[in-house]
Amino acid sequence: MVTDAQNPADRDDQAAADQGSFGDSRSPLVSRLRSRLRMEGLRCTPQRLAIYETLCGSSHPTAEELHASVSSRMSMSLATVYNTLDLFSSKGIILRIPSNSGSFRYCGGQRSHMHFQYQGSDRMVDVPLDLGEKIMDSISESVLSEIEERLGVRIDGMDVQFMGTSSSGQEVVDS
Ligand SMILES: [Zn+2]
Repeated sequence: MVTDAQNPADRDDQAAADQGSFGDSRSPLVSRLRSRLRMEGLRCTPQRLAIYETLCGSSHPTAEELHASVSSRMSMSLATVYNTLDLFSSKGIILRIPSNSGSFRYCGGQRSHMHFQYQGSDRMVDVPLDLGEKIMDSISESVLSEIEERLGVRIDGMDVQFMGTSSSGQEVVDS
């Protein structure tokens, strides 16, 4: 396990500072990623920062779209992007969402965050956090307990996804 003593933060800062516009150590995104990775005993490398920052500045890109954005600013293989997205998803740092096209889209938002997917399109948007909280609050504890009891499981999290069409009738253009 990597500890703070073996992995001083200033070394990461220096590495990040060498990567142009990525990794501003005053950025809340950088602080968030750094602390999450530290909790997992993982290094906050310039590549990881670049992928995370680009993801957080994008609207639910695929791995390929993210790679195209990141690699215009930093040399990086598609495999690195895939591996990093897998790592971040497995640690709950980002969300991996199945899309209509059968590929995955990624979101840098918090775990509690829900999505609306437009049918007939690959576009998805965030459900506002306050509405997501209302939905979570409205889910009955007794139903959750019954799920645990009948399936013999313990629920650690929940993912709600909505789908439908635009109520304005306007055609949705994939983002
Ligand atoms: Zn999202």
